[in-house]
Amino acid sequence: MSQERRLFGTNGIRGIVNQDLTPEFVINIGAAIGTFFKHKRLLVGYDGRTSNIMFAHAVTSGLTATGCDVYDVGTAPTPAIQYAVRKHNMDGAVIITASHNPPEYNGIKVTGNDGIEISREDEIKIENIFFDKKFNLAEWNKIGQTHTLNGIIDEYVEAVETHVNIGAIQKKHFHVVVDPGNGAGGLAAPRLLRDLGCKVTALNANVDGTFPNRPSEPRVENLGDLAVAVKALSADLGVAYDGDADRSVFVDEKGEIHAGDRTFALIEKYFLLKNKGATIVTPVSSSYLVKEIADAYGGNVVWTKVGSTVVSQTMKKLKAKLGGEENGGVFYGPHQAVRDGAMTTALILDIMAKTGKKMSTLLGELPRYFIEKDKIECPNEIKEQLLKAFTELMQKYKPDTTDGVKLWFEDKSSILIRPSGTEPIFRFYAEAKTRQKAEQLVRKHKAQLVQLMKKIKT
Ligand code: MG
Repeated sequence: MSQERRLFGTNGIRGIVNQDLTPEFVINIGAAIGTFFKHKRLLVGYDGRTSNIMFAHAVTSGLTATGCDVYDVGTAPTPAIQYAVRKHNMDGAVIITASHNPPEYNGIKVTGNDGIEISREDEIKIENIFFDKKFNLAEWNKIGQTHTLNGIIDEYVEAVETHVNIGAIQKKHFHVVVDPGNGAGGLAAPRLLRDLGCKVTALNANVDGTFPNRPSEPRVENLGDLAVAVKALSADLGVAYDGDADRSVFVDEKGEIHAGDRTFALIEKYFLLKNKGATIVTPVSSSYLVKEIADAYGGNVVWTKVGSTVVSQTMKKLKAKLGGEENGGVFYGPHQAVRDGAMTTALILDIMAKTGKKMSTLLGELPRYFIEKDKIECPNEIKEQLLKAFTELMQKYKPDTTDGVKLWFEDKSSILIRPSGTEPIFRFYAEAKTRQKAEQLVRKHKAQLVQLMKKIKT
């Protein structure tokens, strides 16, 4: 939050509790959001962090001071709160969550009346109100009211269930091991799975904002317990969520943990079999697999910048029905154009029930890619200059500059070179049909970037 007049990052406002994000700051943000909405009805909900109630009170204070009515929905997965916005005809929501960040963080997301995070243009309007302190405080007799709204998680789970063949899934009696990582997903996923007739084994399913058992991000290195449990119990599937349960990562019956874009490609394949010609929205950080599946099953891929908001907003603009991210975010438009862990879980079980195939078989049927990732340190001050110089150097490959530099090659290999939005680093993400090729792509472009950085520094 050091950059002047900038508060929102790729996924809302984030910061360390009582350092970057203090109650005073959150009251003012609440007042800025309330001024932007102008006397509207807004939901306030939160994930399971230790600072959730403190910030819910602070943001509610700012919102009601500017004349907005607040409906407090309590602790819930982010997608459940987003769904409740439309279900209850609200004008928007303020969600207190830091998603997958460590426990000392918290954050704020703002949605419009469709439950989708507001656009960058609207974020700028809120930032301007905040920095110019142009709060429209209400007269004493026009202060907003505060209400409690119960039952949104049940409504959300029931809505998810309408998009899959419940009867077919129930007949299979799948054994699913679910690991919400002590996040808000523990309030929705076990209930959904039981409704779908699954035998449920839950790990880390009590909500605990200290995240005592595993880091909140569902990365391969954090899901060892889940993988072991799935195999040891001979379960059919394992699924893990991040802290606010909008992202999901799956483990097959053999205990193998799968990258988010492979699971997404599986959903894409079965979606395209029913929806020929559909538009699929995904960030440039996703695997080429997404395009290969689209080419094979009659879809059309639209590549975006990295970030869930831009995927949601692009889907809305193009009326696209499916989006997905490499990190395990799947956006299923018929339900809602936001990433949604429970919806993704139901879709996977639907595919398993329909095909009668095991998860490892379904994923094994997808084309295989080898992925190589790396990063180098680069001071924030020269990131932009370095990216520009590198883009020029790569002109002969016709670089895609949607976000960073992406190079596509004819042998279906590709590399994305992108400065981190938050850390002083450049990331490399290559994939190819052989491991050697992927490694070679990273090695070559890393060397070129280091050379350029030396020139810029001297
Ligand atoms: Mg999240």
